[in-house]
Amino acid sequence: MSQSNRRTFLMQVAACGGALAAVQAQAQGAKVDEKDPAAVGLGYAADTTKVDAKKYPKHAKDQKCSSCALFQGKAGDAAGGCPLFAGKQVAAGGWCSAWAKKA
Ligand code: SF4
Repeated sequence: MSQSNRRTFLMQVAACGGALAAVQAQAQGAKVDEKDPAAVGLGYAADTTKVDAKKYPKHAKDQKCSSCALFQGKAGDAAGGCPLFAGKQVAAGGWCSAWAKKA
């Protein structure tokens, strides 16, 4: 194999690995469905501004998954994991009744 072919081959392997990582991220990244029984039980909403204020009077609009102690995504992520919804992703702008302020 010539040097340039070898380089092309290595680049293809690297590109392939990147695609695989993206597929894996999607596999663990199914968004939590608000109608899912676990989500209903916790009052999860994918949009914190749409939380029922009568049902959850302690909810405030600045409370969202991205500012919750349990959110596993990084700052700026649109969605991330939450231990209450194992294997799924909650929206950074979502909310549930187990919200706890990030320290
Ligand atoms: S526990 Fe926190 S991160 Fe998980 S769904 Fe509820 S508000 Fe979002």
